[in-house]
Amino acid sequence: MTVKILLVEDSETQLQFLKKGLTDNGFEVEIAQNGAEAYKKVFECAPDIVVSDIMMPAIDGYQLCRLIKNHEATRKIPVILLTILDSKIDSFWGKKSGAQLFLSKSIDIIELVKNINATVRRYPVSEDIKTNILSKLTNEQPAQSQLNTILNDLLMKSVFANEFRNLSDFLNYERILVEKMFSLLSSFVEYSVSGIFFASPDNFAENILYIDTLGKNLSKNLLSDIKYDFFRKMDEFKNYNDSKFEVVRILMGKEMDYNFNDFKSKVIIPLVFDRNLIGGICFYTRQDIDYSSFRYFDLMLTELLTLFKMKYQYTEKEFMSVLDGLTGLYNRRQFEIGLEQEFNRSKRHPSDFSLAILDIDFFKKVNDTYGHQYGDYVLKTVANLMKSSFRKTDMLYRYGGEELVMIMPETNIEGAIIPVQRLRKSIEGYDFDYNGVKAKVTVSIGLTMNYQDFNNHADMLKSADEALYNAKESGRNRVILHGKQ
Ligand code: GH3
Ligand code: MG
Ligand code: MG
Repeated sequence: MTVKILLVEDSETQLQFLKKGLTDNGFEVEIAQNGAEAYKKVFECAPDIVVSDIMMPAIDGYQLCRLIKNHEATRKIPVILLTILDSKIDSFWGKKSGAQLFLSKSIDIIELVKNINATVRRYPVSEDIKTNILSKLTNEQPAQSQLNTILNDLLMKSVFANEFRNLSDFLNYERILVEKMFSLLSSFVEYSVSGIFFASPDNFAENILYIDTLGKNLSKNLLSDIKYDFFRKMDEFKNYNDSKFEVVRILMGKEMDYNFNDFKSKVIIPLVFDRNLIGGICFYTRQDIDYSSFRYFDLMLTELLTLFKMKYQYTEKEFMSVLDGLTGLYNRRQFEIGLEQEFNRSKRHPSDFSLAILDIDFFKKVNDTYGHQYGDYVLKTVANLMKSSFRKTDMLYRYGGEELVMIMPETNIEGAIIPVQRLRKSIEGYDFDYNGVKAKVTVSIGLTMNYQDFNNHADMLKSADEALYNAKESGRNRVILHGKQ
């Protein structure tokens, strides 16, 4: 059967020259002189192959190719693009737009015929496909408007993807990352409550479900229902039964009095990579919506997965390393190991040791007022002041965001108060100055020691935590001992 070629070329002489060459070689040749005309012709004649020039006014060869490859009826038709520019970038775009072959215009007719025959053999267009193409003829939109739709869609997708990629700048600031994610998600997903959870390679880490309630203050019951519902789903991927959960509300406002049953639609999506659960995300809404029919849902999930993967790998790297990058102190994992070892040792060979937790007062305000770089500088400086307040044998760690801890071996609580108070005072008196911006900062400290009634190191940590809490409650900028208010 004769092979039908749709030949597209804006120069009349070139067109006639090629048409003659191809007809002489036994092809049936239809012609068009620009992309728009060619696209219309595709539906009129259902060709076996399109051979098109690239450089044409208005709709060019790449765009024509995109149009053909984007339509479900015509996407099987092979396209050969011809150009005088034998540059890499042309062939790159040619391939991106879906062309099967990319040939230089200076190719002789014999070579062109060979290539056409090979391509047609490799990508045959069946009679069924052709019949289908011809049946679409009457309801086709003009090429230009279709092209606009395709380009708009591509643009939307790339803008969308970019928005997610920009978030990767905040991988080491979990809280900010979460806030930015919510602000992005809420701009295009309908929800009453959304949740974000980052799984951690660190088994000691708290499992935090960050919740955005769009400024509404949800009841405790509702929050715990959501938490239960969410982690039950996560539990299918990893054993989360005995884990410690915390729900952090990002924004709060006036009390809302609906309950779990008022949610009409929900979706909980565990994000899994390499058979590890790396996080999860959920949306609950009081409206009736089918989340899966959301136009960019798949794209959103792909981008989220990438982001979560980066976050997981970042956390994993931090977790596996010994020192904290910002402060140069030992990291949380080392602290967990160190505290447990020290506790067990003190049981075997009775001796006193003390533990202090320090938390910077109103640190969020420091960040909000002076920016995060300033916050980082304060944190680093506090860590340095801490290093100079303690003995070489004392062990200093960064426990969490702005929480630093010290283990003081062979020191009872009375002995520990001295360096701890000295540290508190030195921070209070320190003139923080970064690029000429001055600030004052204070810290609260909870202090405890290995009392007999602690069963394990976790009890001891809890006691220090409670003392810290009391220090905050009673006015900040102070040291509070275990058991004292
Ligand atoms: P409080 O006196 O009750 O401790 O108030 P606070 O503002 O310090 O309390 P909170 O613990 O809520 O805020 C801690 C903030 O510390 C939140 C987080 O954005 C910030 N933070 C945590 N880690 C870092 C960090 O490495 N660098 C900077 N710049 N900020 C951090
Ligand atoms: Mg604080
Ligand atoms: Mg804190």
